[in-house]
Amino acid sequence: MPNQSARRSFFHSVNQYLDVAAEHSSLAPGVIRQVKSCNALYRIRFPVRDDAGEIQVIEAFRAEHSHHRSPTKGGVRFSPRVSQDEVMALAALMSYKCAVVNVPFGGAKGGVRIDPGRCSPAFLERITRRYTSELIRKQFIGPDDDVPAPDVGTGEREMGWIADTYKTLGPDRLNALACVTGKSLTMHGIPGRTEATGLGVVLALEQALDHGDDLKRAGLSPGLAGKRVLVHGLGKVGLHAALAAVERGAVVVGVSVSDGAIYDPNGLDAQAVLDHRAERGSILGFPGATDLSEPSELLEQDADLLVPAALEHDITADNALRIQAGVIAEGANGPTDPEADALLRGAGKLIVPDIYANAGGVVVSYFEWVKNLSHISFERMTRRYQELSTRQLVDLVASRMPEPVAEETLKELCRPPEEIDFVRTALENTMAQSYHAVREIWKQRDLPDLRTAAYLLALENVGGAYIESGVFP
Ligand code: GLU
Repeated sequence: MPNQSARRSFFHSVNQYLDVAAEHSSLAPGVIRQVKSCNALYRIRFPVRDDAGEIQVIEAFRAEHSHHRSPTKGGVRFSPRVSQDEVMALAALMSYKCAVVNVPFGGAKGGVRIDPGRCSPAFLERITRRYTSELIRKQFIGPDDDVPAPDVGTGEREMGWIADTYKTLGPDRLNALACVTGKSLTMHGIPGRTEATGLGVVLALEQALDHGDDLKRAGLSPGLAGKRVLVHGLGKVGLHAALAAVERGAVVVGVSVSDGAIYDPNGLDAQAVLDHRAERGSILGFPGATDLSEPSELLEQDADLLVPAALEHDITADNALRIQAGVIAEGANGPTDPEADALLRGAGKLIVPDIYANAGGVVVSYFEWVKNLSHISFERMTRRYQELSTRQLVDLVASRMPEPVAEETLKELCRPPEEIDFVRTALENTMAQSYHAVREIWKQRDLPDLRTAAYLLALENVGGAYIESGVFP
């Protein structure tokens, strides 16, 4: 069903959250109105031949929500639910997300209204290339204008087609590859981008679980190790969140996909569940697990932590009070409606909001964009130097040790950094620093919750940028 028919406007919900935060801000009403506005919206219909040679008319969008920083940034979604309201809301979330994790972009989002599961790769490629050419015509793409990335229904393959189309239509553009992020490594992407959003969700959870006082009402003890997690939506974000959670000592007790959900209190291997689905056509019947009758039932199962990582509007006033998990980390954009949010807060749940929790993707996209503009990978100039200087230090320390140090240990200590090491540690650092910034506002300004704090941080950053740059003319 198209999203317009959803009970409410998604863009309106996002603005409702911003309005709550705005009550705690001293910014002038005009500045707040500008922050909330979606600055530019491009709506296109274009013809593409399907595999039978018939012309199909494709509807697509690109929304640029805020130009307080350039370029604007945000994914491109391929889904039959894409609508104007949805891309505007998602673009607004991108503006706020970038501001919360301090990456220098305005927010944008694109959408193509197709069901990618029903399109052949060749048809998808024609659609992607035509969409890109339409964006180029109106300057809605470019390393210094607007930089798309993967989102629901798109990935490395589509980003490669976008980059190639942009480069082909402007062969003299030196920085062409910085026109899009989330590319494969061979297309000059960056290691760690694919798992960045899911890993970021778990890093966000670790931060939230670090403060015992904040967890009292949720009835949880601090620390991620041993916590039982539900992952609603085992897509790109959910899968990597599940894998990272297990790697860090948590137990994934339930997962869902669009056509099924399973629960196993003894723990599930998310990759094995997806392999089972690839083999059998469904996640149902996974050995040892109980089948649930609806994917949405997953949200209500017994667990400590919940990661809604599917789509918007999954948690509503109808099901909010049946959620048992104490902490909810929003892997998806906009999974919780404002009414549900209030009910959950009343029930003592700690919600780690989307504009912080799932920002890991755009953080690593930022690193990819910088890498593409500098035309050099992050480890290239320092790797050997670091290896040699560490070696000197380690040799010196080893020579003073009473017992000889095993060669294996010395080797491990001197292991030179790979690009992925820089990406992961920089992501970790960003997620930690941003959490502290949001939490400080929450506590110091006595705000109702983390979401209001994150929105207030975003509002003041974006509003501040508008004020400092003044109003043209
Ligand atoms: N689509 C992702 C998001 O919603 C990533 C955006 C990006 O990397 O630009 O955050």
